[in-house]
Amino acid sequence: MPVTRVSRFGLVNAYLVEEDDGLTVVDTMLPRSAGAILKAAGGREIRRIALTHAHGDHIGSLDALAAALPGVEVLISGRDARLLAKDMKLDPGEEGGKLRGSYPGAKTGPTHTFQAGERIGSLQVVASPGHTPGHVSFFDTRDGTLYGGDAFSTLGGVATTAKIYPRFPLPGLATWHGPTALESARALRALDPARLAPGHGKVVESPAAAMDAAIARGA
Ligand SMILES: [Zn+2]
Repeated sequence: MPVTRVSRFGLVNAYLVEEDDGLTVVDTMLPRSAGAILKAAGGREIRRIALTHAHGDHIGSLDALAAALPGVEVLISGRDARLLAKDMKLDPGEEGGKLRGSYPGAKTGPTHTFQAGERIGSLQVVASPGHTPGHVSFFDTRDGTLYGGDAFSTLGGVATTAKIYPRFPLPGLATWHGPTALESARALRALDPARLAPGHGKVVESPAAAMDAAIARGA
């Protein structure tokens, strides 16, 4: 499958994933990005919006997109659905970290909340908590593309978000719990993805060695 990346300034990404019945949009970027996403869809029907996590630079255009797409399915993890609704309470066991980054919330709620292991069309939902408590990644089982959200970034090189990466500190600064994020980075690497399609930065082909190096560095 060709990977369709919609990007603002190369910094913040959304993706369009082709399915037999239409498109799945992965993440919605910052506010005022709905037009760019709809334009990239080129008239193809957008069936679903699947969110990796509830940070503002991933859900920013959710309301505008949902308004433009009546009947669209909106999917997010059960855990981050609460953050999307601006419920900032930590669950027992989550107090080792702190919610960081922007959680502006959205008026649009999910039509369905998912658990790890569920499928959204061809995308397998993979738990990858750490950056946020309910962060997930989506693995396209057809071609091995990993839509990794903010589990990894590729700006200034492939990095995890477990620690602050000096060449692109932003995602690391917004991470809830670094050790959990690092564990998730390992789990995603174990999927042996053919390409890494991150929330921030370019799509990286054959990312195994770069992911290994990032994990070894711990950032
Ligand atoms: Zn984030």
